[in-house]
Amino acid sequence: MSTAKYKRVLIKISGEALAGGKGSGLDFEVLSRLSGVIKKCVDIGVQVGIVVGGGNIWRGVKDGAGKIDRARSDHMGMLGTAINALALADVLEQHDLDVRVQTAIEMSAFAEPYIRLKAISHLNKGRVVVFGCGTGSPYMSTDTAAVLRAVEINAEIILFAKNIDGVYDSDPAKNPEAKRYDRITFDEILEKHLGVMDSTAASMANDNNMPMLVFGVKTPETILEAIKGEKVGTLVVSSR
Ligand code: UDP
Repeated sequence: MSTAKYKRVLIKISGEALAGGKGSGLDFEVLSRLSGVIKKCVDIGVQVGIVVGGGNIWRGVKDGAGKIDRARSDHMGMLGTAINALALADVLEQHDLDVRVQTAIEMSAFAEPYIRLKAISHLNKGRVVVFGCGTGSPYMSTDTAAVLRAVEINAEIILFAKNIDGVYDSDPAKNPEAKRYDRITFDEILEKHLGVMDSTAASMANDNNMPMLVFGVKTPETILEAIKGEKVGTLVVSSR
């Protein structure tokens, strides 16, 4: 019998998280641990969609500013997310999961195009769906894509895997006194300019009443704990 609190979740994994300690590229140890946990989630009956970031490969603004056009640089960033989606799909399959990659930009030789009802149908069949290419539009982030896909597929919560284990009032790497929140609203994140996610993602999640749990990917087992309803990381909720 399922011990899960949620029936359908959307996991957001940043590219940086997929790079592990290396900062860029892919850390297959991280991918493997993550996949092992996702397998356990699926085995207890949870439907899992995943939005992957691409910052381990290319960030539109950070890497391209002043060198190439912003929109083109963002196109490159979206291609980075597709690379991550394919890598993660493969490692998930190595963990005996049935996986489909759907991309917001068509690349039909190796991924399905994003089709909402098809994604939902895959989830209902117990398949993991990995969403690549973010929203498919430049000037957006994969955080926003995560909120968009979560709302579209009627996920109950976004599990936001970061390189940091929750939302802090200041950067714990710089301030040893930094305090971690157990719970915070999207409005507070926006008001206090906490850099945990971009403002488009925060306001979209707020407007659509989509809760988000921010936790550290270094302990991917947290995903399972969160799914079982245990108190981990920081819960971000709408103030509506
Ligand atoms: N990107 C984009 N539109 C989207 C999602 C992503 O243009 O809907 C581009 C953007 O250039 C971004 C890059 O892809 O910098 C990688 O995504 P993101 O920075 O969100 O990845 P993460 O920080 O989660 O690894």
